[in-house]
Amino acid sequence: MQSAEIEDVGAWRAIVLFGRNTATYKIALAHCLARFVEAGATDVSMPELAEVFFDLYAERLTAGRPQLAHAGRLTVMERVVALYRLGRLDRDAAIERVAAEAFDDVLPRFHTLYRGTSGAPFYEATPAGLTLTDRAFTVLGGPERSALLDELGARWDLLEGAFALMREPGELANDVRSLYLARGYERTPLTGLRPALHGYQHGLCFYCGEQLGDDVHVDHVIPRQFVAHDQPWNLVLAHGFCNEQKSDALPGREFAEKLVARNERLVASNHPIRERVIADLGTTPEQRRRAIGRVYADAELAIPYTWDGVRGYHPATDPFYKAFVRGLVR
Ligand SMILES: [Zn+2]
Repeated sequence: MQSAEIEDVGAWRAIVLFGRNTATYKIALAHCLARFVEAGATDVSMPELAEVFFDLYAERLTAGRPQLAHAGRLTVMERVVALYRLGRLDRDAAIERVAAEAFDDVLPRFHTLYRGTSGAPFYEATPAGLTLTDRAFTVLGGPERSALLDELGARWDLLEGAFALMREPGELANDVRSLYLARGYERTPLTGLRPALHGYQHGLCFYCGEQLGDDVHVDHVIPRQFVAHDQPWNLVLAHGFCNEQKSDALPGREFAEKLVARNERLVASNHPIRERVIADLGTTPEQRRRAIGRVYADAELAIPYTWDGVRGYHPATDPFYKAFVRGLVR
């Protein structure tokens, strides 16, 4: 992928994985956008949007799971689908009701993140409905399409699970987190990369700068929940302890710099991984630095918590870090 496409896909993921969700509407709207892209539809009328939205929920709600964080309340979609099932609304009337009542919040807020917005929008709202932008077609019609659709399904599962947990008093946020990790984002085994990465870190932990021991983890510097891939440019070795401290937070900017330096060291080597790094990030050091910078900036916008590193660690006193920076200057 070109770096502009990486950025577009990152913005999409920021909405889907880290947008504000008090209900499942954003995820359903994202599904609708994917369908319209597949059909090649640029201008979508409100009745067309409402029909796809209704069908999605009618199917989804057969599982009977909550679609809203707030206990004791139902979303418009839950009410409309229930009335349709009871025979109190026919299909046309149900879709009309969806068009009139379901979109007031989700259409204006789809692009809103914890901090700021996702940049160029994926659609513009018009008086008659929606106009999809080129960005929507780039992302949802591109090579990442099927991975992004899988993520939408996983995110919907996760939100329903989280809402169900919130309704049961005494459940902890940790449960939601473990559900997130277990259900939506199973990791591929990365242990095979350990020997390859080891040499480019001088056998030291990426986060604390101490010698690696027996308990070595392969870690995604920019969290996997955000990048949703296992590309080697974003993988480093860390102590199990340091990795667990970092968890799925975003590490500080100094670690993004360190990652740039580590990748330049990989590219300068003859290791086969270098070709992967070049293919994923670009052919020149400047392109690669910018590509990482963009993904990091998107992640910063989207991830509501950052991690400042292991206490007592300073890049300036880390021989590994200094060696990297020297290596870059040479
Ligand atoms: Zn460590």
